[in-house]
Amino acid sequence: PKKDEEQMIEAHELLRKFYHHLLINTKEGQEAYEYLLERGFTKESIEKFGVGWSLPSWDFTVKFLSKRSFDPALMEKAGLLIKREKDGSYLDRFRGRIMFPIQDAKGKTIAFSGRAIGGDEPKYLNSPETSIFNKSSVLYNYHGARAAIRKQQSAILFEGFADVISADRANVDNGIATMGTSLTEQHIQMLRRVTDSITLCFDGDKAGMEAAYRASIMLDKTHLNVKIALVPNKLDPDDYIKNYGAEKFQNDVIGASLTLMAFKFIYHRQGKNLKDEGDRLQYIEVILKEISNLENAFERDYYLRQLADEFSLSLEALQQQQRQIFYSLKKKGKGSDQKTRSMITLAPST
Ligand code: ATP
Ligand code: MN
Ligand code: MN
Ligand code: MN
Repeated sequence: PKKDEEQMIEAHELLRKFYHHLLINTKEGQEAYEYLLERGFTKESIEKFGVGWSLPSWDFTVKFLSKRSFDPALMEKAGLLIKREKDGSYLDRFRGRIMFPIQDAKGKTIAFSGRAIGGDEPKYLNSPETSIFNKSSVLYNYHGARAAIRKQQSAILFEGFADVISADRANVDNGIATMGTSLTEQHIQMLRRVTDSITLCFDGDKAGMEAAYRASIMLDKTHLNVKIALVPNKLDPDDYIKNYGAEKFQNDVIGASLTLMAFKFIYHRQGKNLKDEGDRLQYIEVILKEISNLENAFERDYYLRQLADEFSLSLEALQQQQRQIFYSLKKKGKGSDQKTRSMITLAPST
């Protein structure tokens, strides 16, 4: 007899194929298919990513699985069915949703994320955590993108599935995404196995900026090379590609990726009016703190000069202030989780 996990994966694989068939070949899937084309998906990308459609029925999946002799209790554990409290009967978890299959590192389908097409809530419904699906150690498209990531020695982390798929259509085929959660140590370990360079390409809204800031600090701490590709006009990568096309996405977004420090200069500027003296001093202070955390003396010098130039300040005053910040961070013990570096590098550079 097959192990539970094998049966759970087999059910996901069969359903992936059937949901895909429903989307592309049947009248029932037509509206959803047109919705996807309208959004800019192509037949090729729908096929490549195995996108499907679950019928708006309470028991289509229940019947599909029982006809193939899967135990409904096991299918409930797999996250495909839900058990009704009152009579112990089962119903479909995914009803009337666009189905994005989630694959493990071997390419086996272990979960789904279903997107509503009306205004239904939630917008994305994910499989629950199961014995085959652990959100914090799964990256969307990791299996599909792995060869491209190795070849290009870089991975691009997006926020959403649609971003990964649109980027792929725009010939950016090293894209992955989390399951709508923040980045974990396990994700980083997975990525580390294939590359040491990660570009973050999150949504251009405030939430995306905040998420990029947090993720970039995590990646930097583990000594991965991190870059940040900012999407303008508060768009997300998917919207940007739809509006401006593949070439502009490659050149003006991915091609214009920022170093971590250049990103921080922009990040800390948000919501500040640098013509206002108070805001300006606050900004300079926070940038000096960031500079104090840099490991490399040349880098510190470089960014201090940049700051001095931009605000017409004396380099000497900035250097002095930066050293003070460094020592006060140390005294408060805040330096302890930062990268250690030699005190000798603090000697004035002029
Ligand atoms: P779309 O373009 O289809 O509207 P999106 O990817 O732009 O989707 P966002 O709102 O930017 O959606 O969210 C980013 C990611 O966060 C989604 O791809 C999904 O993984 C996750 N997510 C969003 N909303 C939900 C939700 N209600 N429940 C669970 N996960 C969600
Ligand atoms: Mn978002
Ligand atoms: Mn988005
Ligand atoms: Mn989107």
